[in-house]
Amino acid sequence: MIPTDIIAKKRNGDELEPNELTSFIRKFLDNQISDAQMSAFLMAICFNGLTERELVIFMAEMIKSGKVLGFHQSESFFADKHSTGGIGDKTSLILAPVMAAAGIKVPMIAGRGLEYTGGTIDKLEAIPDINISPPLNTFKNWVERTGCAIISQSKNICPADNKIYALRNLTATVPSIPLICSSIMSKKIAEGISGLVMDIKVGNGAFMKTKKKASQLGTLMKKIAKSYNLKIDIIFSDMNQPLGRFAGLGCEIKEAIDCLKGDDGAKDLIDNTFELCSSLLIQSGKAKNKEESHQIFNKIITSGRGFECFERMVYNQDGVLKKLDENTSPKFEKIIKSDKNGTLRHMDTEKIGWSLVELGCSQTSNTDKLDYTAGIEFFRKTGDVIKKGDPIFRVFNSNYKKLSSAQNFLSNTIVIKN
Ligand code: URA
Repeated sequence: MIPTDIIAKKRNGDELEPNELTSFIRKFLDNQISDAQMSAFLMAICFNGLTERELVIFMAEMIKSGKVLGFHQSESFFADKHSTGGIGDKTSLILAPVMAAAGIKVPMIAGRGLEYTGGTIDKLEAIPDINISPPLNTFKNWVERTGCAIISQSKNICPADNKIYALRNLTATVPSIPLICSSIMSKKIAEGISGLVMDIKVGNGAFMKTKKKASQLGTLMKKIAKSYNLKIDIIFSDMNQPLGRFAGLGCEIKEAIDCLKGDDGAKDLIDNTFELCSSLLIQSGKAKNKEESHQIFNKIITSGRGFECFERMVYNQDGVLKKLDENTSPKFEKIIKSDKNGTLRHMDTEKIGWSLVELGCSQTSNTDKLDYTAGIEFFRKTGDVIKKGDPIFRVFNSNYKKLSSAQNFLSNTIVIKN
């Protein structure tokens, strides 16, 4: 197999033979195909897609590159949630412990920030000493004992996706329906779960900018799930503005904790989280309908059992929650105010995401260090009536130069009109 021939075939829009695809991926994992060659190949996929036959093989190869977890499904319902990526999306951090409190086991393998979207693992690492890469047996024990654990994709789970994911992040090759589908679904299949709820974000801050693209992705995911005997629900949720009141690293952990404690969580965040939890409660048979799932969800929050599961999960994973504030207190902050009266008509959510990257919430190169103190507080949502001088954003981190540059970015992200 000559790598350039395979790249050229994909570039020209021809269908690859199964052995061409598998050997290309295997050789990349063995470092016999360079990052440059894989990047060109990924870009060709971005333009020309993958046929259904190619997608199935591509995905199977991701799964086969690592291990598949085995759980005793007869004892509990094992399920997970995954999002296609957004800004301020901390629903996983709330959903996993809430589901554990409801008796559903969640072995969650989450990702790092991808392009301008935030990553659950980057956020989780704001908790000092948290272990997000345990041996697989330890991960299984945590899930079986506490009901949930959130870890990063380890070398043992879909390592091919891990290596490709990192490259996609650096080469603008994320927004491709077959690449997103195979990346997400391979990890979920490898978790050995029986149920999945997918949160497909749609809007100007999502990879799927239109409902049409989101539906295409959803249809493909359903097909894949069916072929692996996995129950799946697809939720389409709005990403035309950040979710909740905060986006960033440590600040999102704190917002998730507030929601788990029932402390006045932002409505959009609670609604989105509930919708996802409800799907899994119904899939598992714990609730017959939305109404019943609502009662279960509310009881878990008001009784404090959701937060207890979160504490236990963090404790299992060696995280020191009491040092969270110390680790995430920013040195600098600026308030951005409105310069006019009117209604907040539009937020450029992708640009807000890039401001977060600029602040230090995501890696732009392999050597970048994350700033766990960094984030943005959103005082206003679209549709709000605003007066000149009203605060719109509070932006914070511990690197003044980056703060100033993010502030410049941010000032051009909203439209206020009558
Ligand atoms: N999340 C993933 O795990 N993979 C993608 O490609 C996009 C979002």
